[in-house]
Amino acid sequence: ATTFDVERIREDFPILKRSVNGYPLVYFDNAATSQTPKQVMDVIVDYYSNYNANIHRGVHSLSQEATDKYEQARKTVQQHLNAEKAHEIIFTSGTTHGINLVANGFASILKEGEEILVSAMEHHSNIVPWQMLCEKTGAKLKVIPMNDRGELIYSEFEEILSPNTKLVFLNHVSNALGTVNPIKKIIDKAHSVNAAVLIDGAQAAPHIKADVQELGVDFYVISAHKMCGPTGVGVLYGREEWLEKLPPYQGGGEMIATVSFEKTTYAGLPHKFEAGTPNICGGIAFAAALDYMNAIGFSEIAGYEQELLEYAAKKLKEIEGMKIYGEASEKTAVISFNIEGLHPYDIGTLLDKMGIAVRTGHHCAQPIMDFFKIPGTVRASFSFYNTFGEIDRFIEAVKKAKMMLQ
Ligand code: PMP
Repeated sequence: ATTFDVERIREDFPILKRSVNGYPLVYFDNAATSQTPKQVMDVIVDYYSNYNANIHRGVHSLSQEATDKYEQARKTVQQHLNAEKAHEIIFTSGTTHGINLVANGFASILKEGEEILVSAMEHHSNIVPWQMLCEKTGAKLKVIPMNDRGELIYSEFEEILSPNTKLVFLNHVSNALGTVNPIKKIIDKAHSVNAAVLIDGAQAAPHIKADVQELGVDFYVISAHKMCGPTGVGVLYGREEWLEKLPPYQGGGEMIATVSFEKTTYAGLPHKFEAGTPNICGGIAFAAALDYMNAIGFSEIAGYEQELLEYAAKKLKEIEGMKIYGEASEKTAVISFNIEGLHPYDIGTLLDKMGIAVRTGHHCAQPIMDFFKIPGTVRASFSFYNTFGEIDRFIEAVKKAKMMLQ
């Protein structure tokens, strides 16, 4: 039914040709990290082969070239997210770093007794930094609950939101359930009481092209490694007025204007938040990954992945004892499941023996597992380079694992 040329796309990903335990690899752990196309690898090799140098400091040509490419990468991200200004794009080591940077900054803004709201379906990296912030400031953390389809209960959010709410933070897409949250509605509502909003876009960014100006969001954080880029690099988008207001996160080189032992003044944006030598090659490769994905097209990617999702969900549901967690009306290509009486770890181990990579466990989202009263799930997450044939192999392997374990 699809016109998506997946076979051509697969040619770009050398790793998809390898075998695991004697079987051709089926990689269904894309929500943990995505694979890298050779176009991005070429950029990495080119960087180290031709213009590896430290940035912003050198007068020599290599340093200038590296600086130009790095700043060009920032512009690529700016355009991708439709940020108004390039200095609203802060390079980080990933989503976790971006969230910690903002949480740290709010320590000097939040006051005792003020409230911050989190959703019930967050990754630990969007929970723990805020708990640490509450310990430092005496602010209170409140939770927006979800229903058993894995959807946030909007009316409860309206209920707990108040003029005392200073900040709301939630993921655009849940890594454990695939739920796409109605973030525009939540951002608008939060702004009606002047609360700032941080969106964890780690799981949305590989499938949905967010427009930060249209969303009106205050902070949006992403990781390159979930979207065909390398690990150890990501981006924090922050609205200029907020980035001006927040204090620096780390002190060091690059983030200063002047330093003396009496007083140091800080550099302007974005350097204020980019202490030390950054992941220069990573930032440049991230931009190459965005170019790669944009050339295919995010709506084409999402459309094809939805077909994979529907196909896999339908086939999985035919298996007796199958329970799927997260059946939101809008979701990305993630299926979290258990089979009655079987441990997710055992299923995952047998799938690996058959060359199929899935994730098992709590997916860094223990509160979700507690909500469903389970220790964990098996999670299959699909990308645009996966195929219907791979799903057939996966379904057969799940059936076989079930037979072996029962
Ligand atoms: N939030 C969500 C929703 C995620 O899925 C992840 C990665 N599993 C993170 C945050 C953390 O991202 P990183 O490990 O790249 O910092």
